[in-house]
Amino acid sequence: MTGGIRADGRARSNRAFVTLATNSDYVIGAAALIRSLRRTGTTADLVVMYTDLPGGDLARISALGARLVQVDLLPTSDAFNALHGRDRLHGAAPFTKGEKPPFHTPLDNFAKLRLWQLDYERVVFIDADAIVLQNIDRLFDYPEFSAAPNVYESLGDFHRLNSGVFTARPGAATFDAMLAHLDRPGQFWRRTDQTFLESYFPNWHGLPVFDNMLQYVWMNLPDLWRWQDIRILHFQYEKPWQIHAKVDDLNVLIELWRAHAGDGPVPDPATLPPPPGAGPGRA
Ligand code: UDP
Ligand code: MN
Repeated sequence: MTGGIRADGRARSNRAFVTLATNSDYVIGAAALIRSLRRTGTTADLVVMYTDLPGGDLARISALGARLVQVDLLPTSDAFNALHGRDRLHGAAPFTKGEKPPFHTPLDNFAKLRLWQLDYERVVFIDADAIVLQNIDRLFDYPEFSAAPNVYESLGDFHRLNSGVFTARPGAATFDAMLAHLDRPGQFWRRTDQTFLESYFPNWHGLPVFDNMLQYVWMNLPDLWRWQDIRILHFQYEKPWQIHAKVDDLNVLIELWRAHAGDGPVPDPATLPPPPGAGPGRA
């Protein structure tokens, strides 16, 4: 590891599941994610990258057995930071499909790229707003760069990847090349790390949608939903620890997230009901 990154202790494995939390709201998500990963029986390291967090948050993550890695935001230019500021980005490229929470800072997303500086051979990154429902260790065998399509509305979604789950092989050369590609005069990444990664890895490999099932599929594409198949459930847009406009529609998913976030039992997803709009004849 070099500049901009300070790890707690040593790596115990050469593989790690990695997430990012730059504020206390995303720590709530990261804690549920770590708990859900533990339940899968994985022996890979569980890593939380963070920028600046209160001591209580750090203690909470440590107590779950995760390795803490402090990272700086990327050394991007003032012009880049201004273009990707929250208000500027929401004005230039408004979100029309769902609401981003107030604690979401677009510029912080790019800190994900610090994982290419980590001391692991293989990494699977997972957003802090996701939970893992089945063992996903096989993802370490997928090549760099693999991600699932950003499917939550229609067939057109298959053109784009979702950067909430992806596979990577850390390396300083890749990290340096990424920084050079990221911050060029006038370059604007309208969906931050997601559009950047799409551009940096134009021949990205596809993961099944079940490795990154987006919560809006429950409402918009109910026929795609089959609890037995879903390995990672990702709460894109509104977060399950927020009060928001879609809590009634997404109640079954939010309750499952709460079970993973807490100390009590977690239901077998196969016992959960299908989405309300699902058609007949589904297994
Ligand atoms: N993130 C963070 N702080 C921020 C914004 C994002 O730590 O201010 C991290 C966190 O891991 C989060 C991920 O980056 O899950 C991507 O953001 P988010 O999940 O909110 O985006 P969405 O999935 O809704 O597109
Ligand atoms: Mn997310």
